[in-house]
Amino acid sequence: MSNEDKFFFDKIAMNPDKEFKVFGRDILAFKQQLDAQKAELDKLHANLADLVSERRKLDTGLQVERSRSEELEKQIATLQGDYKSRDLKVHSMEDEVASKLKKMENEMAAKIKEMQDKIQDLESREQELIKEREAVIVERDAKIAAVQDERDILVAKLSEMQKMVPKAEPVPDIDDQAMVRACMTCKEYMLVDEGNYKNTRAMILFDTAHRGHMLGTLTHGEVKGGFLPKTRAYLEKVK
Ligand SMILES: [Zn+2]
Repeated sequence: MSNEDKFFFDKIAMNPDKEFKVFGRDILAFKQQLDAQKAELDKLHANLADLVSERRKLDTGLQVERSRSEELEKQIATLQGDYKSRDLKVHSMEDEVASKLKKMENEMAAKIKEMQDKIQDLESREQELIKEREAVIVERDAKIAAVQDERDILVAKLSEMQKMVPKAEPVPDIDDQAMVRACMTCKEYMLVDEGNYKNTRAMILFDTAHRGHMLGTLTHGEVKGGFLPKTRAYLEKVK
C-alpha cells in the first residue's frame, strides 16, 4: 500500500460515517491489489497443505522408524536374554565338566592307592616267601649237615671194616688145565692138589663153607678172571 493510500484510509478511519469521493480507477487498483493478495494467500494455503502432507509423510516415516527401532530394541533384549541364558548354560556346563574332572581325578587317585596297596601287599608276601625260603634253606642245610655226619661215620666204619677184610689173593700163575674146586654160587675157587694132605683138609673146609651151594670141579682156565682165588685162605685155616 502506498503512502498516499495509507493517508486516504486513515482519513476514512477517522470519519467512517462520511461519504468520500473516490475514482473508479483507484477502486479497481485496490481490487487488483486485493486479488493479488488473495492469489498470494491461496498460493500460501496450497504451500501450507503441501507442507502439512509432507509433515504427515514425515510423521508416518518417523512412526515406521520408531516401530522399527522398537522392534530392534526387542530383538536386542531377546538376544541379551539368549546371551544370558547361554552364559548360564556355559557356566553350568563348566561346573559339570569341572565336577566330572574332579570325580575322574578322585577315581584315579583311588585306583592309584589301590595299586599301591596291592604292590605293598605283594612286597610283604615276597618278604614272607623269602623268609620261608631262607628257613627251608637253613633246615635243608641242617639235614645235609646231619647226612654228612652220618656219611662220615659210615665212611669211617667202612674203612675200619675194609682194614679187617683180608687182601684178595693174586691169581696163581699156573696151567689152565689144573683142576680147581669151585662154588658157582659165591664165584670162589681153590686149587686141587691131589695126594697133598693139607690141601685135602682145606678142600673139606671149602665144601663145608659152601654147603648147599652149587659146587663143582672145573679147570683153572674156566674160573680164572670170573672167580676169586681162595686157595691160600683155606690152607691157612688148616692148622
Ligand atoms: Zn659158595
